[in-house]
Amino acid sequence: MTTFNELGIRQDIVRALTELGFESPMPVQEKVIPLLLGTKTDIVALAQTGTGKTAAYGLPLIQQADTNIANPQALILCPTRELCVQITGDLNDFAKYTDDIKVLPVYGGSSMDIQIKALRRGVQIVVATPGRLIDLIGRKAVKLSQVKSIVLDEADEMLNMGFLDSINEILAEVPKDRNTLLFSATMPSEVAVIARNYMHNPAEITIGSKNAGAENIKHLYFTVHAKDKYIALKRIVDYYPSIYGIVFCRTRMDTQEIADKLIHDGYNAESLHGDLSQGQRDLVMQKFRIRHVKLLVATDVAARGIDVDDLTHIINYNLPDDIQAYTHRSGRTGRAGKAGTSIAIINTKEKHLIKQIEKKINKQFIPSKVPGGREICEKQLFNMINKMENVEIEHAEIDPFLPTIYRKLEWLEKEDIIKRFVALEFNRFLEYYRNAKDINVSEEKGRDKTGADRASRRDEPGFVPLFINVGKVDGLYPATLIELINANTHGKRVRIGNIELSKKSAIFEIEAEAAAGLIAELKDLDFRDIPLVVDYAKENSSAERSSERDFGGGKKFKSGKPFKGGGDFKGGKDFKGGKEFPGGSKYKGKKDFSGGKDFAGGKDFGKSKKKKTRKP
Ligand code: AMP
Repeated sequence: MTTFNELGIRQDIVRALTELGFESPMPVQEKVIPLLLGTKTDIVALAQTGTGKTAAYGLPLIQQADTNIANPQALILCPTRELCVQITGDLNDFAKYTDDIKVLPVYGGSSMDIQIKALRRGVQIVVATPGRLIDLIGRKAVKLSQVKSIVLDEADEMLNMGFLDSINEILAEVPKDRNTLLFSATMPSEVAVIARNYMHNPAEITIGSKNAGAENIKHLYFTVHAKDKYIALKRIVDYYPSIYGIVFCRTRMDTQEIADKLIHDGYNAESLHGDLSQGQRDLVMQKFRIRHVKLLVATDVAARGIDVDDLTHIINYNLPDDIQAYTHRSGRTGRAGKAGTSIAIINTKEKHLIKQIEKKINKQFIPSKVPGGREICEKQLFNMINKMENVEIEHAEIDPFLPTIYRKLEWLEKEDIIKRFVALEFNRFLEYYRNAKDINVSEEKGRDKTGADRASRRDEPGFVPLFINVGKVDGLYPATLIELINANTHGKRVRIGNIELSKKSAIFEIEAEAAAGLIAELKDLDFRDIPLVVDYAKENSSAERSSERDFGGGKKFKSGKPFKGGGDFKGGKDFKGGKEFPGGSKYKGKKDFSGGKDFAGGKDFGKSKKKKTRKP
């Protein structure tokens, strides 16, 4: 086994690496380090995130930096602020025992003056996003005449983000005799053009096969109708109780909407996209890193440079417009040798995209079925039992109560006690999934012109569609609607079918027997000061935006607590600590329909009816 010493890395740096737990070089490091420490060679390296590329170029740059020179000698360009900060952090870790070396991150969205002052004080390595560096060059605040090495990290991403002109401008500013290193997860033709134009006989290094997805990533796809995508997402998340991953959406709006829905439905989720302020993004990332948030719903741009190694799943809620981006998304899991799963939730029209991606990554997707209620409940049940087996018992806290508890339970057999504890938490899942329908679409069915598989419960005997005059802009979401219905059926369990939400109204299906009673109950209520109008929906009426339909599935909060999906079903520390949702300030703050009571507080909605204050 080669060591860092044998590759020529200096002792002060090896000491820092040992502390970081880097026992031996990773393949990309074995290939790149000797080239950089030896004769100056340009390098094009095809390497995914997670392969150890930062140390591959970073260690030689640190070793070769001359701290007697106060101007930058190495320049690293990367696509995002997050990656910029991450690379700087890594380099500083590697240089922990290297005297006087300064590494400066330079990125947009933070004070230019502070960066200019730091540049004046002297730095040897600059890590920059192209836009901000161009600004600094324009102000003559950065001197690039002594740059000996330039690294283009995640080159394909920088081009995707439209930085080509900036990169060209920067490359024109640095001395011609520098050496250029280009790292990219994929090699689209635009990246090849940069290599051709700016590099001299570059050494080509490929870690893994060209443009291939990492070996340890499993790729699955699930086919459902577009309207069922959100339900599919929830079921998939429920099926993997230990999930810790990123849900990718195409637009900022989709991202926020899906995150809001998940939070609303009790999942440990947060959104990350460009409409958030830098402060908000940092906070979300911090919560995600320490696993207080289990699901990050993100756009491609926002997720770049996320430095979390142990993600279990990537979920493509929408496939990316650009197929290359799929490699980047899926490369966020299966890092540092761990196994990962990349999931695509597609509708029947998107099957061809799967084929295109398969070609690109040179790997087959496994067609998979969205799990049904039974499978999910089974998974959750055994997860709960495992957690129970592994729970740490705080003897000092619990022991004083035990004698009383033992006495109280004396009359029960051991088997009976187990059954009751299991039922206590498990009933919620059972209840939630009791009427869950199969939302899988077979590829055959998807092409069925008759649309037979598209039928909702309207075609089932016993269900009728009702109209309600409030919608999303009024704060009505499927979960709120279900709550509203359940709170007004006098404790009777009523089956709910499809819910079609539009901006200002909704159509929902309900079992016919309960319809008249519910209409009568709701007509006396206000929803956030809007007097409710509920009636039988006319034939052919539909909420305006059918893509936002959702499914109710007879969800109920029997115990008075909101249903909690995802990883922390039971025994999660957040739950134990009395807080339902760690990232839930948004959630908790949401007022419910019953005149301002807190949804997360599990209040009884039925009792908080408010009489009409004005006529519709
Ligand atoms: P990167 O591709 O540079 O983002 O690195 C991926 C992960 O691998 C990071 O968490 C690094 O800290 C880690 N890493 C890099 N090189 C080594 C090494 N030689 N041994 C162990 N871990 C490493």
